[in-house]
Amino acid sequence: QKTLLEQLKGKENITKSGQKVMVYANIGNLSDVGAVLKNDAGGIGLFRSEFLYLESETFPTEEEQFKVYKQVAENMAGKRVIIRTLDIGADKQVDYFGLDKEENPALGYRAIRICLTRQEIFKTQLRALYRASAYGQIAIMFPMIISVDEVKQIKKIIEEVKQELREEGIDFRENVELGVMIETPAAVMVSRDLAKEVDFFSVGTNDLTQYTLAIDRQNQKLEPFYDSHHPAVLSMIRMAAENAHAEGKWIGICGELGADLSLTETFLEMGIDELSVAPGMILPLRKRIREAD
Ligand code: PEP
Ligand code: MG
Repeated sequence: QKTLLEQLKGKENITKSGQKVMVYANIGNLSDVGAVLKNDAGGIGLFRSEFLYLESETFPTEEEQFKVYKQVAENMAGKRVIIRTLDIGADKQVDYFGLDKEENPALGYRAIRICLTRQEIFKTQLRALYRASAYGQIAIMFPMIISVDEVKQIKKIIEEVKQELREEGIDFRENVELGVMIETPAAVMVSRDLAKEVDFFSVGTNDLTQYTLAIDRQNQKLEPFYDSHHPAVLSMIRMAAENAHAEGKWIGICGELGADLSLTETFLEMGIDELSVAPGMILPLRKRIREAD
């Protein structure tokens, strides 16, 4: 009996009818990269950068971040590495950010909302990311987006960062791919316009379920109601996919639902271009895709 790895290593993620899908990995730390490579992922679809902030006693410096991003880019040897900018707030609290206690943290001051109002924190991360872009295929994505205006603000800050690096004579890649997470109903509703501004979408089904169904993803008591298969959630994903494709952009899923093998055919039928899952799910997903029509 051959192991899944022996059967499937090096094989394409392709259905019987010839539809190809990118199968990427989700990671939360540099130490996960070994598992990504061992399981033969095509790239990293979600690198949660929060660990840099959670493991630190104070804001991680540009140099500290640069080293981590550079290393992951180098270890992935030219494969795409999508790094998500910090998604602190709500369930992920860090003391030194000095955030106020909130009535509704999930609806509160978090993620891109912190980055756009405390731009020095955001710029430090973006400088580290752009510097690391010289060492591999780094892509950057932004969490909790609700509007086109936010993306325009982000792009303006990125231009400032790039200009600084140019003036300092520091190497970086000019055309780093930029994406947004689709994890709020607002992002879905304006996805046609968002798609005009970015290179790709990545659906965060954990939050998209929470915000679509108005059900706290952290509340154990609500687990029976937290239904990621709800038709409203699936319609949201389909709509985002249609709008991404209408603008010639690609769309992935990086939330837990991407690894739900009972939905793989549904996602293929929607034309989802990439599924990013825990390293241990790469090969089972590849198997599922290769069995699909
Ligand atoms: C999501 O919301 O689905 C997601 C991938 O991000 P996180 O789980 O880190 O909020
Ligand atoms: Mg999320």
